Amino acid sequence: MSTPDPTGLAPGAMLGILGGGQLARMIALAAADLGIRAHVFAPEADSPAFDVAARHTVGDYEDEAALARFADAVDVVTYEFENVPAATAAFLAARTPLHPGARALAVTQDRLSEKSFVAGLGLAVAPFAQVDSLADLARAVDTLGRPSILKTRRFGYDGKGQVKIAAESDLAEAYEVIGHFPAILEGYVAFTREVSVVAARGTDGSFAAFDVCENEHRDHILAFTRIPAQLGADAGGMAIEAARRIGEALGYIGVFAVEMFVVGEGASERVIVNEIAPRVHNSGHWTSEGAETSQFHQHVRAVCGFPLGSTARRGTVEMENLIGDAALRWRELLAEPGAHLHLYGKRDARPGRKMGHVTRVKR
Ligand code: ADP
Ligand code: MG
Repeated sequence: MSTPDPTGLAPGAMLGILGGGQLARMIALAAADLGIRAHVFAPEADSPAFDVAARHTVGDYEDEAALARFADAVDVVTYEFENVPAATAAFLAARTPLHPGARALAVTQDRLSEKSFVAGLGLAVAPFAQVDSLADLARAVDTLGRPSILKTRRFGYDGKGQVKIAAESDLAEAYEVIGHFPAILEGYVAFTREVSVVAARGTDGSFAAFDVCENEHRDHILAFTRIPAQLGADAGGMAIEAARRIGEALGYIGVFAVEMFVVGEGASERVIVNEIAPRVHNSGHWTSEGAETSQFHQHVRAVCGFPLGSTARRGTVEMENLIGDAALRWRELLAEPGAHLHLYGKRDARPGRKMGHVTRVKR
């Protein structure tokens, strides 16, 4: 393999990607544009990213022999999901550069450490309390009130692993719903909208954020992203600055997303940080046609030590997720002027499964 030098890799290098879903697939496609080959490592034999990667390994994240072969065959490793086991990250990082690093994973895998980290930077988060027992939950509900939201500390996504504590909710039942796992209770944020900042940090500490985008969820799954977000300049600046400080404090390399709630109006409008995703993010898919550099190209640039690209927006942009059966509309979407269709090559369209997305750019 080509030897990494302090200024980074060169075209021709091999990028290792952990995880074989649509995010890995789109990273691998962007890598190919830059002359970088991808080696995807994932446990599922029918991983969508395998179709577009130069090489792939079907292996478990605990299989050290397979991981060692993978590390030897690549120049740098990245990942498409935040639940890479800590031992896997440490094992790989001892053999090859791993970007983003183990600290980004450790902080963002656990909602308690994530919220504490963000609050420690002086950024606003929802009030929260640690919950390790039903008694903790009762105390936390007394303090934070109702409604509030009980979330498992680990492995939650698309609203899974969380339950709302409403006025009439039975606490024992709610604790049962999340399987008695270590959890946090969050005070309910009466937000006006949800936004996110997708940004990148390079190996030289350079920072580049895409414009703040506005996210609409349906059934807890992202349905639409629209850019620009309906947000005043002050709150928008606050959102970008929050992402910059998070990236800096993590010593981050690569693309990441920060999900935020917008509260207040006019002069009192501000953002509250909800979650950090240490990876490319669904709310950044609009950048493929909507920005000068896509989040996937930006991620490859960052983890390879290349200069970051322009994040300039090309117009007013909408991204629509195609979930489950929605991808059956592919023929109609291909015929729609100005629509850019992306399909992930997944074989069965189960309800709730992300099958593809469409971007629409108005210049
Ligand atoms: P995940 O995306 O990992 O499932 P989130 O913490 O982002 O978990 O929660 C999913 C959605 O639930 C958010 O996008 C938001 O709509 C709602 N939500 C989460 N936490 C709160 C909160 N503290 N107050 C109000 N709504 C919330
Ligand atoms: Mg979220």
